[in-house]
Amino acid sequence: MNDSSWQQGWWCGARRAFSPNFSPRAPGEAVSLVVLHNISLPPFEYGSSAVEQLFTNRIDPDAHPFFSVIHELRVSSHFLITRAGEAVQFVSCDDMAYHAGVSSFQGREKCNAFSVGIELEGCDFEPFTDAQYRTLLPLLADLAQHYPITAVTGHQDIAPGRKTDPGHFFDWDTIEAAGLPVVR
Ligand SMILES: [Zn+2]
Repeated sequence: MNDSSWQQGWWCGARRAFSPNFSPRAPGEAVSLVVLHNISLPPFEYGSSAVEQLFTNRIDPDAHPFFSVIHELRVSSHFLITRAGEAVQFVSCDDMAYHAGVSSFQGREKCNAFSVGIELEGCDFEPFTDAQYRTLLPLLADLAQHYPITAVTGHQDIAPGRKTDPGHFFDWDTIEAAGLPVVR
């Protein structure tokens, strides 16, 4: 839990899968917000590599009807945590990933500019796994140690009415009990 956990915005606890979907952050922009999400591809199915393929622009539009709808999206997050608790990092936290979309936090829009995005493999309708929390908590702690994080929030909180993730089953109490600044 120290700065040796990071190499130019890459977390040492994650496997790397480089995404081209990022932009440099504005000069002087600090990472102050963590946004938590859920995702599963195909929807409600776990264990495939489709999320990783989506974030690296390699998803096969013919592999599933839903993929033909989304294969031209150019999206990313900084991290994905699988059901088994594996962390995969796609974009350096020093750069901006494309995870939040139209969004607003405490009156400031376009949250990608100042946030890190973490996707939990899952959906709105069932709990996340213990293994996911065992990876998420040290990741959040290392983020808060390395960046001036003032808040951890949900995609549903910065894009209400448009987004519902990470959803009702996400255990915010565990995050708060670990001493992280949950703001929703
Ligand atoms: Zn989301």
